[in-house]
Amino acid sequence: TRRPVIAANWKMAGSQQLGEEVLEKFKLLPSSSAEVVICPPSVYLDSLQQQLSKHSSELVNHRISLGAQNMSHQEFGAYTGETSGAMLKEFGCSYVIIGHSERRRMYGESSDIVADKFIMAQKMGLTPILCVGESLAAREANRTFEVLNGELNAVLDKVGIMAFDNALIAYEPLWAIGTGKSATPEQAQEVHAFIRQRLTEISPFVGEKIRILYGGSVKPSNAADLFTRPDVDGGLVGGASLNASDFVNLCRIAS
Ligand code: 13P
Repeated sequence: TRRPVIAANWKMAGSQQLGEEVLEKFKLLPSSSAEVVICPPSVYLDSLQQQLSKHSSELVNHRISLGAQNMSHQEFGAYTGETSGAMLKEFGCSYVIIGHSERRRMYGESSDIVADKFIMAQKMGLTPILCVGESLAAREANRTFEVLNGELNAVLDKVGIMAFDNALIAYEPLWAIGTGKSATPEQAQEVHAFIRQRLTEISPFVGEKIRILYGGSVKPSNAADLFTRPDVDGGLVGGASLNASDFVNLCRIAS
């Protein structure tokens, strides 16, 4: 069985205070079996890491890790404005979101760059959370699987299947991100099963083991129905992760 993961993507929002609030809420929750990953803006990683260690004795029944929302595909050097994987690692990150649709669409990240970031993340000892997802136009044109295949293959072709032994995948349909309109549990399950099948065809070991998260308007009211689908192993949560009660509630639901 796959341990569920609930990951918070604060995007360019949140605060140091939010980190404190979230950890205070976790302290009130006796335990959770879900793995929790918090991905704040990178400037907050340091304070969140310190808060985690300050509260560590009261959080022993939880598994809370830090993640980044993006990283450079370069290792080091003259790349103004970029953050390296080694730096993220130094500030306590275990995970990094790679290829979020906002990065692909708004910052021109090609599938090739996404694959390079995936490689660099693993080289630096970080576990990539690879985001894939189709636009509304693609879904309406019945091109969902074709788009997902393309995004998966771009990485698979470069890294090989075994690299996915140490990675998470997040299915985030673009039309569900920040819209309040989540995919239905049936739609999510259909796509997750497709992704797992694609990987299983190449390696049954990896396909069975990899955790596939759903992202796009996840909130406490729709989470239970999504997270109980067989191929949905948790969620990547944007908006609802900015509310400490909602986020901790989601982790409780996933546990
Ligand atoms: P929302 O939960 O705000 O729809 O965002 C989803 C997302 O993009 C997480 O990475």
